[in-house]
Amino acid sequence: MEIMSFDIRHLMYNSRNDGSNNRRFFNFLIYFSVIFLFSCFLSSFSWAKATEKQLAIVDSLQVQSDAQSTTLRFIVSADVAVEAAVLDQPLRIILEWPDVSFQLSPDSLPKGVGVVKSLRAGMVSHERSRVVIELSEPALPLKIRSEPVYSGAAREIIVELFPTGRAQFEEAASKRREQAARRDQGAPESAAGDLVDQRPLIVIDPGHGGPDLGATGVTGIFEKDIVLSFAKELTRKLKNIGEFRVAMTRERDVFVPLDDRVKFARARGASLFLSIHADTLSGNSEVRGLTVYTGSDRASDPESARLAESENRSDIAAGLDEAQSVEAVTDILGDLMMRETRAHSNLFARTLVGQMTNAAKLNKNPIRSAGFRVLRAPDIPSALLELGYISSPSDIELLTSVGWTDRATDRLVGAIMDFFEARRNLGGAVSIEP
Ligand code: ZN
Repeated sequence: MEIMSFDIRHLMYNSRNDGSNNRRFFNFLIYFSVIFLFSCFLSSFSWAKATEKQLAIVDSLQVQSDAQSTTLRFIVSADVAVEAAVLDQPLRIILEWPDVSFQLSPDSLPKGVGVVKSLRAGMVSHERSRVVIELSEPALPLKIRSEPVYSGAAREIIVELFPTGRAQFEEAASKRREQAARRDQGAPESAAGDLVDQRPLIVIDPGHGGPDLGATGVTGIFEKDIVLSFAKELTRKLKNIGEFRVAMTRERDVFVPLDDRVKFARARGASLFLSIHADTLSGNSEVRGLTVYTGSDRASDPESARLAESENRSDIAAGLDEAQSVEAVTDILGDLMMRETRAHSNLFARTLVGQMTNAAKLNKNPIRSAGFRVLRAPDIPSALLELGYISSPSDIELLTSVGWTDRATDRLVGAIMDFFEARRNLGGAVSIEP
């Protein structure tokens, strides 16, 4: 380490050497040989230490000055990004490094060279390192560049400091203070953001379950089983994309009261609620095809009203004493929120039908609305999807086939992605239909 400091000090005063060119060249040869021999010797330690943590090593620093500028040259074992910042009181330049290992003896660090009064280097956190340059007069780093040296991955990081007026220096320092303040204000949020998963949550609600069988198909199959296996496949595909969090109101054959399904979604701050059903309708096997329902106080048609009424009896079917009361949305703000949420629900229904048009047999009126209790969350866009009507033997055949399930879940995933994309583009605003 003695020799290292020798090397650095001599090189650092090199530019002030008044000797002849020949003498400079001779000095250079000696210094170069010394540096080379000792860097071989030191590197056996340095590189061994570095490979433990895979850190880049800074093992040489030269400082030179002339009339125009003071130049710092760091030799680093790998290319790293270095940023400079300006601080006043006292006058300082801070060089921000990634996590590097400074293997510079404190004795070897320059003092009183050009604008550099003194210099310290070290790690400031487990991910950042820093070089603090105390200045003897105001100076700004106008250039930081990285150049290859010798061979291999080593780089020379070159920082040039130019003397400047005090006013200019103070302006640069105050800009840096403002930036730091803005970063500090933003810091708690971004720190929390790292911990909390910010992806939108989609709640998939397989209808019925347990003692509530839902509809029973003409083949004896139960709605609760068809919709659970469909919901599981949809959940699996949605999770695979990685853009969303996905939760199911039930993952097995268990009854969940209607209001608890809504509460489940609201408690978790869901961004979309999708209930999956496959009912029978009016005992009429002519009515078939996929239908999307949105919540509404007034049903779009008598069949939808009947369907909602039968769905809303789910709790009674499961043996609850009486249907639980739905949280009433009575105030004006709540009403406005509900109207906006329903506009989003309608956007989703239209997107879904658009995606499904060529992939599935649609009902002749594929978008309908009625007073479904599971579609009453005032703040979560919600839809109820009737995959088909198991009063129709051909719908049962479709709904239980692997090919159809695969196509339909693909299109649903597409519709959900389109919906969130559209909401992002609209900035959350959707025209509210009366
Ligand atoms: Zn149902």
